[in-house]
Amino acid sequence: MKYEPIIGVEVHVELATRSKMFCGCPADHFSKEPNTITCPVCLGLPGALPVANKKAIEWTMLLGLALDCEIPLESKFDRKHYFYPDLPKGYQISQYDQPLCIIGTLNGIRIRRVHLEEDTGKLQHADGMTLVDFNRSGVPLVEIVTEPDFRNVDDVDLYLKKLQQIVRYLGISNADMEKGSMRIEPSVSMQKVESRKSKVESLLPNYRVEIKNINSFKFAKRAIEYEIERQTEMLEHGEMPIQQTRGFMESKGITAAQRDKEEAHDYRYFPEPDIPPVRWQSSQLSAIRLQIPELPEAKKERFMKEYGLSEYDAALLVETKARAEYFEKAVSHQQSAVRPKMIANWIINKKVDVLLVSPEELLTQISAQSGAGSTMPDEDLEQIINKILGDNQKAVDDYKKGKEQALMFLVGQVMKEAKGKCEAEEVKKRMTEILSVQKIL
Ligand code: ZN
Ligand code: MN
Repeated sequence: MKYEPIIGVEVHVELATRSKMFCGCPADHFSKEPNTITCPVCLGLPGALPVANKKAIEWTMLLGLALDCEIPLESKFDRKHYFYPDLPKGYQISQYDQPLCIIGTLNGIRIRRVHLEEDTGKLQHADGMTLVDFNRSGVPLVEIVTEPDFRNVDDVDLYLKKLQQIVRYLGISNADMEKGSMRIEPSVSMQKVESRKSKVESLLPNYRVEIKNINSFKFAKRAIEYEIERQTEMLEHGEMPIQQTRGFMESKGITAAQRDKEEAHDYRYFPEPDIPPVRWQSSQLSAIRLQIPELPEAKKERFMKEYGLSEYDAALLVETKARAEYFEKAVSHQQSAVRPKMIANWIINKKVDVLLVSPEELLTQISAQSGAGSTMPDEDLEQIINKILGDNQKAVDDYKKGKEQALMFLVGQVMKEAKGKCEAEEVKKRMTEILSVQKIL
């Protein structure tokens, strides 16, 4: 019997607001002395009253809008109850049936909801003791939940990277995984391929395994792959995997059972009585929508059209907003006659540090090199390389089969064609890059 994975993803992102979600403590808790940024509210002391952070609500809506979500005109907070030492109140203020944003989409994956909640404290285990640090307690946390639309691990990887990119473009979080500002929880189950063919949605598996708090793209991939193997093996032996929460053990690359997964009713959700429901006018929504900057996908398309860049180059330039803006600054520089394509090549091939080299300096460097006469412009060189590669298909095939000498032959041909106006090292580097891209395509 053939099985295929059904995967959904929950992502938590800490917002980089000035203050926490329900109190005035600073939200930037990273590498601060333990328990130094706390107050009665985020320590959950009796009688302390929460006040919702307006900026955090607006930023969540901003993200929702960037993910093409619908924004209901009314929303509310709820208490989600569970007991754990890092949760001082015994409940987390979260959102249950009226999240801030619903029904969105990213990269062809349906987004079920985007809601706002508070982060918990942090446990540290040392010398047989467990210590609690409440600095993180109450930091605004956005949760982005997809429908179980993924059928393979690569699409999950792509989705996660795009999501991180959008969050960073919006400037609402650094979304650094190693700092825990972005955390991933995939849910995996397996279904028979034939039940997909019958196209009956209700035939989705009646269990799902959730993997908690993964802090790198690589680990997310590995954890999902491991679950796919584990569950497939069980099913093939006639066993049924159970609804479960599992943890990913980084050192072994495996997941291990933590607890049988709770259902929503286990949390005893009820409306947070200390925070009134939030309502807004559609004019307020329009104002937030205006704050959305040009997002990576749109920027990439525009770069291709406006500057005649390849999709590959454009994608690399828009990887970060800083890099994209740097490129455009260099392109729009009045005194410069350097063409956009060449600027793009320099930024990409020479891995220009956009924080260290100003666009002006970059343009000077490019002009100096291409004007000196001893070396030719990157574009011309690239043209020659492509010509030589096209004329010498046999050598190209040999190289792709692993024959290093074939590359040296090709480099020699380019040097001849360029009449010495280039350096062998540069040609070799450029050629390897072009060939590796060809391999991908
Ligand atoms: Zn506080
Ligand atoms: Mn959550």
